[in-house]
Amino acid sequence: MLVDQFGRQHTYLRISLTDNCNLRCFYCMPEEDYSFAPRAQLMQPAEIDFLARRFVDLGVNKIRLTGGEPFVRKDADLIMAGLAQLPVELACTTNGIRIDDLLPEIRACNFSSMNVSLDTLQRDKFLQITRRDLFDRVYNNIDLLLHEGIPCKINVVVMKGLNDDELVDFMALTKDQPIEVRFIEFMPFSGNKWTSNQVLTHAEILDSLGIDPELHLMPGSPHDTAKRYKIPGYQGNIAVISSMSEPFCSGCNRIRLTADGKLKNCLFSDSEVDLLTPLRSGEDPIPLIKAHIYKKKAKLGGQMTQDFNELEAEKLSNRSMIRIGG
Ligand code: SAM
Ligand code: SF4
Repeated sequence: MLVDQFGRQHTYLRISLTDNCNLRCFYCMPEEDYSFAPRAQLMQPAEIDFLARRFVDLGVNKIRLTGGEPFVRKDADLIMAGLAQLPVELACTTNGIRIDDLLPEIRACNFSSMNVSLDTLQRDKFLQITRRDLFDRVYNNIDLLLHEGIPCKINVVVMKGLNDDELVDFMALTKDQPIEVRFIEFMPFSGNKWTSNQVLTHAEILDSLGIDPELHLMPGSPHDTAKRYKIPGYQGNIAVISSMSEPFCSGCNRIRLTADGKLKNCLFSDSEVDLLTPLRSGEDPIPLIKAHIYKKKAKLGGQMTQDFNELEAEKLSNRSMIRIGG
C-alpha cells in the first residue's frame, strides 16, 4: 500500500505520456522558451509498463493517461493496449484532436472515461485559447465518442473575462446528452501568468448557473475532486473542480508520473523523485516510490495557503502544467 504520513492511501496514478502537444493552450504551455523533452528522456513503452505494474503491486487500481497530449505520441496505441491488460480502471484526458484517428484502439481499451478538454463553444475563441484552428475537430470527436457509447466528460477551465459567459451554453449540452461537463477553477503553474482575479470560484459558477447545492448535489465519494450536480430531467450533469477555492486534499488518493519518469506526490509539490534513471541502471524503484509518497505534504504541496487571494504565484516552485501532466 502507498500510504503517506497522514494515512492517506494512494490508489490512483496519472501517467503523462509526453510533454508535447498539438495545441498551445496559453494557460498550460509557457509562451517563451518551451522545448519538448527529447525522446531519449521519455519513458519508453516497456518502462511505462514495468512501472505501472509496480504501482499496481503497490495497490494502484486506477490509471489515467494524460500529458501534454497523450495521443500525439506515435506509440500511444501500444502503450494504452499494454495498460489495458492490467487489473485497473483505465481512463484518459485528451484534447480530443486525434480521437477519430485512434478510434479502434480507443474502443479496444475499454476506457472507463474519456475526458476531453474544450474551454469554449466558439470557434474564434478556441483559436485564441489554443492557437490552433481545430474547434470542429474536437467538437465532432466528442460527438463521435457519444455516438460510440464511450463514456465522455468535457473539461472546461473557467477564467473570468474569457469564457465565464459560456457556462450556460455548456450546461445546455448536458440536457439531451449523457455527458458530464466539468468546470475547473484556473490554477497557477510555472509560466502561466495566473492571477487570483482570473479565478471564477465554485460558488460563483453555481450562482451563474442557478444551481442550488441543497437541491442538485449528487452523492459523492471521499476521493472525489469534483462536486457533481444534476438538474432534474437532464440526461447528463455538471461538475465543479474547486482546487483553488475549496481544495480536496484530505481525501487525496492521487499521484503522478511525468513523461520523463519523475514521481510527483501532489500536483502542486515542489519536489519529485526520479524513477527512470534508477530503473535504467537496474535499481528497484519501489523503495523510492514508497519514501516519496510517505513525505507528501498535508495540503496543496505545502506551497499554497487555503486563501488563494493571498497567493503570490511567481513564488511557487513547480513545473508548467504541460510538463506535469494534468
Ligand atoms: N492535452 C490533454 C488535455 O488538454 O486534456 C491532457 C493534458 S492537460 C494538461 C489536462 C487538463 O489540465 C486539461 O483539462 C486542461 O484544460 C487542464 N489544465 C491545464 N492547465 C490548467 C490550469 N492552469 N488550471 C486548470 N486546469 C488546467
Ligand atoms: Fe495541450 Fe492539453 Fe495543455 Fe492544451 S491543456 S496545451 S491541449 S496539454
